[in-house]
Amino acid sequence: MKNLLILGAGTAGTMMANHLNSKLPAVDWNISIIDECKTHYYQPGFLFLPFDIYSSKQVKKKGSKFIPKRVSYIQQSIDKIIPEENKVLLKSGESCSYDILIVATGTKTVPEEIEGMTGPDWKNKIFDFYTYDGSKALRDKLRVWEGGKLVVHIAEMPIKCPVAPLEFAFLADSYFKNKGIRDKVDITFVTPLSGAFTKPRATQALDYLLKEKNIKEVTDFNIERVDYENGKIVDYGEKEVAYDLLVTVPTNMGDPLIERSGLGDELNFIPTHKATLQTLAHKNIFAIGDATNLPASKAGSVAHFEAEILTDNVLRFINDDPLKEEFDGHSNCFIETGDGKALLIDFNYTQEPVEGSFPLPGIGPLKLLKESKLNHMGKLAFRWVYWNMLLKGVPIPFVSSQMSEKGKQIEKIK
Ligand SMILES: Cc1cc2nc3c(=O)[nH]c(=O)nc-3n(C[C@H](O)[C@H](O)[C@H](O)COP(=O)(O)OP(=O)(O)OC[C@H]3O[C@@H](n4cnc5c(N)ncnc54)[C@H](O)[C@@H]3O)c2cc1C
Repeated sequence: MKNLLILGAGTAGTMMANHLNSKLPAVDWNISIIDECKTHYYQPGFLFLPFDIYSSKQVKKKGSKFIPKRVSYIQQSIDKIIPEENKVLLKSGESCSYDILIVATGTKTVPEEIEGMTGPDWKNKIFDFYTYDGSKALRDKLRVWEGGKLVVHIAEMPIKCPVAPLEFAFLADSYFKNKGIRDKVDITFVTPLSGAFTKPRATQALDYLLKEKNIKEVTDFNIERVDYENGKIVDYGEKEVAYDLLVTVPTNMGDPLIERSGLGDELNFIPTHKATLQTLAHKNIFAIGDATNLPASKAGSVAHFEAEILTDNVLRFINDDPLKEEFDGHSNCFIETGDGKALLIDFNYTQEPVEGSFPLPGIGPLKLLKESKLNHMGKLAFRWVYWNMLLKGVPIPFVSSQMSEKGKQIEKIK
């Protein structure tokens, strides 16, 4: 009997457990998955929780509900991987051996990386919405906040779901309009990038929306410290932005277990082959989702497309066949723009977000790079798709793991 071990039962790990459950013969393979957290969170819902659009119940479920019965679900903290011995050590002192390892331990926010961030203003005037606790605390704050300078801030790239901070700013605009206090709230979006987003074509559309909604934008801001005594953030060039309420996306890093295992880069992300998902250092270790160092978005949609290709590659690896070099960086993302509308973007390693229709060429019904109410409904419907199809490995009709060029105004990036 051989052992396939998955580290992390978040979006990517759970999908892999479901895909491999149906593909690996139970007589030959044990499948195990390890996670320290009993709850599975629908992280895209952390964007809506602060604005009371979703309740806390709607963004979390018991993790075990999504793990197939045949797969052993080990609820423990992982200490480190010892690749030379094909072994994973748990914090409890126990160990698990593997023939094939899939690392899906995601990213964590590390607010301590910025001087002063976790000082007296943390959870008082400074909040994050990238964690369940942070998002809930921010909801409680927004319910009673009477206005002032709201700063929405990204500490450094890469972060998971790079559009989420922008979406937060757009939703904040609608939220305060609906509360009748928009004139009392001055919103500023502060980013280390030179524009609203990582991709120039989408940046144009998003910069326009920021202006239209009277949201100020401060770009190229590389934060050095939080000066909580004077209520401002300061960058390395001594630029300053004052806040009454700072909503920050702190530095994102791979789990410390990756550093302890000697497998990560300077941010604890794992060097991984961008098309096969095999790690560069060890042939029998694969990585998926936010834990990799791939130049793709860190997003659930990316993990979904990767999972389909990685499943085939695990089977090929077992059969000694060459791995498929098929992951093209495909990412697909709804961007909430407030007032009940959203944009949809679709891109990959070489193609910018393009205009066109999705998922059916020439038909849609969704339009790419255009704001619409239908896209917003798509974003809200995605929660159902996530719990009922995506996590369980059920194929989503007409959506392929590689980006389709049909019905889109394709332009190659040089
Ligand atoms: C606010 C927000 C909005 C988002 N919106 C979108 C969106 O609209 N569309 C989209 O596609 N994506 C979105 N995302 C991103 C998406 O949620 C992530 O990219 C996705 O969950 C990544 O999956 P993963 O499996 O790689 O990591 P995760 O789902 O984070 O799972 C990692 C798992 O590993 C476990 N783990 C880590 N270290 C250890 C350890 N040492 N021991 C034991 N267990 C460990 C964790 O407990 C966790 O369960 C959003 C994220 C956020 C925060």
